[in-house]
Amino acid sequence: MKVAVIGGGPSGLYLANAIKHARRKSEITIFEAQGLSAHSKGLGYTLQQLGINLLNKLDPGFQTRLFANSAPQVINKALYKTHNDSRLLPFTTGFSVSRPALLHYLGEMARNAGIKTIQQCINKQDLNALKKDFDLVIGADGVRSVVREQHARQLGARTETLGLHYSWFINESPQCRTEACFYAFRAPEGVVMLTSYPLTPYRQIVIIEMTEACLNSGKFQGKTPEQAIPYLNSILSQNGDRMALKSAGLPWYRFNTNSIDCLHHRNNALVGDAAFAFHFSSGQGVTNAFTMAFTLARCLQRNESVAQALQHYNHACKLAMGKAEQKMTQRAHWLEQIDHHFAATPDQQLLDIFLGRLPEPHFGNPERPTTREQRGPEQRGQSRL
Ligand SMILES: Cc1cc2nc3c(=O)[nH]c(=O)nc-3n(C[C@H](O)[C@H](O)[C@H](O)COP(=O)(O)OP(=O)(O)OC[C@H]3O[C@@H](n4cnc5c(N)ncnc54)[C@H](O)[C@@H]3O)c2cc1C
Repeated sequence: MKVAVIGGGPSGLYLANAIKHARRKSEITIFEAQGLSAHSKGLGYTLQQLGINLLNKLDPGFQTRLFANSAPQVINKALYKTHNDSRLLPFTTGFSVSRPALLHYLGEMARNAGIKTIQQCINKQDLNALKKDFDLVIGADGVRSVVREQHARQLGARTETLGLHYSWFINESPQCRTEACFYAFRAPEGVVMLTSYPLTPYRQIVIIEMTEACLNSGKFQGKTPEQAIPYLNSILSQNGDRMALKSAGLPWYRFNTNSIDCLHHRNNALVGDAAFAFHFSSGQGVTNAFTMAFTLARCLQRNESVAQALQHYNHACKLAMGKAEQKMTQRAHWLEQIDHHFAATPDQQLLDIFLGRLPEPHFGNPERPTTREQRGPEQRGQSRL
């Protein structure tokens, strides 16, 4: 079986390795455009139990190789804060890993297994040629997938740009932090959200996120992430932290989500963000990518016919992703309205609504925000990402 995998991110690399495990005689070629992913500049991930189990299935000794140069930072607690409250809660045990370290590890495994990697950005014409030359063509090319775009109608592909802006930072402060942190601090402009995970006890990957209205007003107006650092530090240090953000040299991004009705069309299939991309607050992107890739490899192992394998793959993934999609869509829409939710909530309940622990109608958001665009994939060039 000849397989072309478009995209050498977490899903493409995991899939190529998993297919090689499942069908040793398959010839696999990865086409990787280097840095085309909306997440290429992303600094890292938290990996929790399912993701760890799936890495284990490919390589039981993965921890030694993935963390050859530094021990993993284990995370088993999460700190939730608002400007006036905080709570330390148990967190599913996992660890953080930088994107380059994860891709390097999976890339080495692929090379050792004889999987070919070609540096090439695949466009629509290339795709037509690949479909003829390969038995199976996989779109693992991320949230703006060219494979997804070419078959958007047949796949029932939906893309949504959220009215939320985020950027990455590093925090280096003398304060020790080994927890994952999830903060939502009310500022005059709106609510400033922080998600962080430790790379070491004194160095954390930080994502700052806020609504479009918040970013376009007051002291944030017209500021790049780097220019906003002094103000962000002052807001986020109000409740016991000593924030010392450092610039990652990145702009503000808008978040795109993807979902899909069918994961394959003819001999094309999608994995990872190309199929389903949820808001990062789920912390599940890489785990979902590995799960889809593992499932597809299993289906190819159990079905000699590619067409039959793809049907089984579609069925299994739709079952697995359906509930997650509904929950994450609801959460993302709630976050788009967080300024309104916080404005309408008494101070002593802010942490509970942020945690989603207050009953309806606080959680869930029947009204659609005006900043959201429902976009067809053909309009993807318009995104600011
Ligand atoms: C702010 C933020 C924080 C996140 N935090 C987490 C987290 O903590 N844990 C977690 O599990 N997930 C997290 N995610 C989600 C995670 O980044 C994605 O789910 C994951 O990267 C998806 O992997 P992928 O391989 O499907 O896509 P990508 O990582 O986007 O990789 C796609 C690859 O395809 C290549 N490519 C694209 N187009 C082409 C083309 N035309 N031809 C050839 N190659 C191409 C790209 O260069 C790239 O290498 C986060 C996302 C964001 C935005």
